[in-house]
Amino acid sequence: MTTYKNLTSNAGHSQLVEGATNHGYEEHDEALAYNNEFIKQGKAVGATVVNTTSEASTQSSILVEQVKKANAVNKAGRLDVSWHFNSAADKSATGVEVLYYDQKELAARVSAALAKALGLRDRGAKQRKDLYFLANTNAPAILIEVAFISNASDMKAATSKRSGAVKSVVESITGKKSTASTSTSKPAKKGVKTNVHQTEHSGKVVYFAYDNAKQSFAKVLYKLSTVNSDYDEIPLFPKSVNGYYIVQANSDIQLYSDSDLTKKYNRKITKGDQAISKYLKHINK
Ligand SMILES: [Zn+2]
Repeated sequence: MTTYKNLTSNAGHSQLVEGATNHGYEEHDEALAYNNEFIKQGKAVGATVVNTTSEASTQSSILVEQVKKANAVNKAGRLDVSWHFNSAADKSATGVEVLYYDQKELAARVSAALAKALGLRDRGAKQRKDLYFLANTNAPAILIEVAFISNASDMKAATSKRSGAVKSVVESITGKKSTASTSTSKPAKKGVKTNVHQTEHSGKVVYFAYDNAKQSFAKVLYKLSTVNSDYDEIPLFPKSVNGYYIVQANSDIQLYSDSDLTKKYNRKITKGDQAISKYLKHINK
């Protein structure tokens, strides 16, 4: 049984390319939680784990960056891991799958352990030679589809049993017993802090607020930045929220009634603004 202690790990998508969404879950957020827990538990058993998550704005540039970051790590005894969630039109599709290029035995072992920890069906190891991440890292690699984001009970298990689930994966990969608790405790509530990230849309500078505590983009600004979750080259193009395109510029929030951000809506946004206040809850005033 081959085990690995030189690891890289990433959440398969990014804040700007969320991946699959359903039941209020967004693939990137869930995958990032697994990735971060894996890094923490992996280090706790003495492995080195380099985070290769990319926050690029298209899926193809995310994949290129993930592979580049992984290949920058010494390849001797290295394993590259990518965390994803599955999705299917059939809401009853359920279970764990681990995709591999040539690591059938490892993929099967991780899938079985993870399925057992989550109490979900073990769909097993699936060979995928067409996936960029698996085909292009210069070390063994696996892509873990934790559960189906399209299945509400899969997601209940995946979120409530995360710590124990990751523990089973760490033990399968490293061969070391993890001392992590199998129960997932809720993180302590912290004050909402945001910082502002900058990108461009139609030649204009657009700002996105990032919520440090939630480690996610403030909802409204995320909505503004995303188009859909296809894993393809998609240029940034804003979506409206209640008919408005909302931009946080430096310190104030601006509304536009057109997607080219030329028709500015001249009304100061206040906390009690019913139309949009629910979308603004994560943004500092
Ligand atoms: Zn994915």
